[in-house]
Amino acid sequence: MNADQNALPESTAAVDTIAAISTPPGRGGIGIVRLSGPQAASIVAQLVGLRQPLEHARARLADVFDEKHASAERIDEAVVTYFAAPNSYTAEELVEIAAHGSPVVLDLLLRRALALGARLAEPGEFTQRAFLAGKLDLTQAEAVRDLIEAQTLTQARQAASQMGGALSRRVAPIKQSLLELIALLEAGIDFAEDDVDVAPKNEIARRIGELTPPLVKLEASFARGRIVHDGLTLAIVGRPNAGKSSLFNQLVQRDRAIVTANPGTTRDLVTERISLDGIPLELVDTAGLREAIEEAELMGIARSREALADAAIVLVVLDATQSLNEEERALLAAVADRPALVAINKSDLAKGDLNSNLEADERLNLQQAAAEPFGISALPTSALTGEGIPALRERILALATGGAASEPGLLTSLRHQQAVAAARAALADAEQANASAIPHEMILLDLYRALCALDSLTGQTTPDDILNLIFSTFCIGK
Ligand code: GDP
Repeated sequence: MNADQNALPESTAAVDTIAAISTPPGRGGIGIVRLSGPQAASIVAQLVGLRQPLEHARARLADVFDEKHASAERIDEAVVTYFAAPNSYTAEELVEIAAHGSPVVLDLLLRRALALGARLAEPGEFTQRAFLAGKLDLTQAEAVRDLIEAQTLTQARQAASQMGGALSRRVAPIKQSLLELIALLEAGIDFAEDDVDVAPKNEIARRIGELTPPLVKLEASFARGRIVHDGLTLAIVGRPNAGKSSLFNQLVQRDRAIVTANPGTTRDLVTERISLDGIPLELVDTAGLREAIEEAELMGIARSREALADAAIVLVVLDATQSLNEEERALLAAVADRPALVAINKSDLAKGDLNSNLEADERLNLQQAAAEPFGISALPTSALTGEGIPALRERILALATGGAASEPGLLTSLRHQQAVAAARAALADAEQANASAIPHEMILLDLYRALCALDSLTGQTTPDDILNLIFSTFCIGK
């Protein structure tokens, strides 16, 4: 099924003209009302006093009047840009009225546009129209939303690359090879009586075998695509006073968490989003894990345990001036099979006599040795002097990305990953069917399933309800 052959959602079946305020709510230098549909230009001609006729891709000055413009007062001056179908974002007649960013003026414009026959656009409906017209495929449409929602430049770059079709381009050659294989099998069936050679089993196996590695690689790209897209959570845990809040502040580089010298003061969770090499990372500073007496502290500790369970990465903070206690040993054992790292903090105090029978640097070594059996990398840090902080950031980043490098055309959503996984599973079935000398008709069913899965990635075979769900996550006016 082709994108433009998709059954149109009911709302667009009659091709009405939609309108929305496309700029965010609130006041600003300019605010834009956008219209798309066959009547867009004629509605705008009645809505504002154009000083010159509309012309494709040209900006025109216009007066905005209080009421019907023949009699009423001018309340604003706007710039109107018109894009003639099909050379617009939606492939329809499209007009943007850029007025001053006063909610009162924009509301007036929108209300009057609706009175003149436009309909209020649903969230994402402009982009949905672009998709239905074949201007964008589904991965590109999703990237429009991701670009708007990007919180870091890396996220914006990734979205822009996907919007430019990077993912679709990566899938295209895989799909092409699959189509060629399907054609080969179909020919063998259709022309079996005309002496067309039936594709030999090993040739089919070879071709399926060639399709698999690029799909595996594509699916693996989700590891990085997902964290760039969604970010991840890092929980900072350790005994009270080890320096969790101070390390947190070092990572955030702002005094966000309250630092005090009394153990057990970080009673609640403090969270902050930082961007680590463009990857959004949510830091959670937890209450100290220890037997607490006070109720408030107990609650904080319960939340810490939850945060610890939920976090993608755990940073265990040990105190270089203290020997490892039972609880810390248990903590290290508990996080050993998860992405975790250890900061041996207060390394600046690790030299010299600290009124104890153990020298501090000896403790540091002991702690390092203690983390080792659990396979957790430990590094000395000082939240006071900043020593070891850049190395800590680097280790966090390496854990976050799992070493996966950035590449064009990453899978960024579970929807993408599932489509590729479905294609892989169908190919595996085809491979097995071929090996068991099952009739080609049956192998073809598996191959078509793989094709359908790849097509759903770009939206060619995505069911309408899923499409509607995707576009409903957009903002209004986009
Ligand atoms: P938390 O309870 O684990 O969050 O510990 P805090 O961050 O509140 O720190 C407890 C105390 O240790 C504070 O007085 C900090 O200034 C101090 N501290 C934290 N990190 C270091 C460090 O690396 N070196 C030194 N000398 N003091 C530190």
